[in-house]
Amino acid sequence: MTLMRLHDTLLAHFGAQHWWPAETPFEVMVGAILTQNTAWTNVERAIKALKTADALSVAAILALDHDTLAALIRPAGYFNVKARRLKALCQSLYDAGVADAPERLAQQGTAAELRDRLLTINGVGAETADSILLYALERPSFVVDTYTRRSFTRLGLLRGNETYAAIQAYFQAALPTDLALFNEYHALIVALGKHHCRPTPRCAGCPLNTHCAHDQHAQHTLPLRKTAAL
Ligand code: SF4
Repeated sequence: MTLMRLHDTLLAHFGAQHWWPAETPFEVMVGAILTQNTAWTNVERAIKALKTADALSVAAILALDHDTLAALIRPAGYFNVKARRLKALCQSLYDAGVADAPERLAQQGTAAELRDRLLTINGVGAETADSILLYALERPSFVVDTYTRRSFTRLGLLRGNETYAAIQAYFQAALPTDLALFNEYHALIVALGKHHCRPTPRCAGCPLNTHCAHDQHAQHTLPLRKTAAL
């Protein structure tokens, strides 16, 4: 089954996911930091607190002292680390001259240049950078996360020990470079990971179970088939 058909099967099953769940590109950027190592429901509570405090802007976050910012985003966990990371993100946006409209960062370089720039920000790794590129700056950069690695290893398409860059290259080589497709595909992988391909998979009812190496080996006790495509 091709990656495109996998996408189409997931889309038919789960429907369009309408990602990213945010009102503005800056909210996407903030969410991409806050969602590190925590569930999205916790991020929603932190963002709601920022909104209630009228603090969901570059200027407001830079103006807040560390402890106040950390207290606001406490629901997202690791709040001291994430407060520093939000400050670093906002300082970078301020330095780029796009504090009032962070989405205008997209006008300041190619996707590769923007990605390199994002990766220089404290706390922005590959997944966060690609999330910001794809969902805030509208650049087609495929996002790889834990769900991607887990599901596509079980499907028999990855070994599971590839680097982030190798997995991203695998998807980007096999798919047309299409912003809407990359947007939807990652969101659908998350839906698969939440509903079926969980740490203990729920293969019954999974839309991919007739194509899945893991499910075909039954009982979920045998080693994964090694049919890595990389
Ligand atoms: S069939 Fe099972 S292991 Fe395979 S993708 Fe679906 S939930 Fe994951």
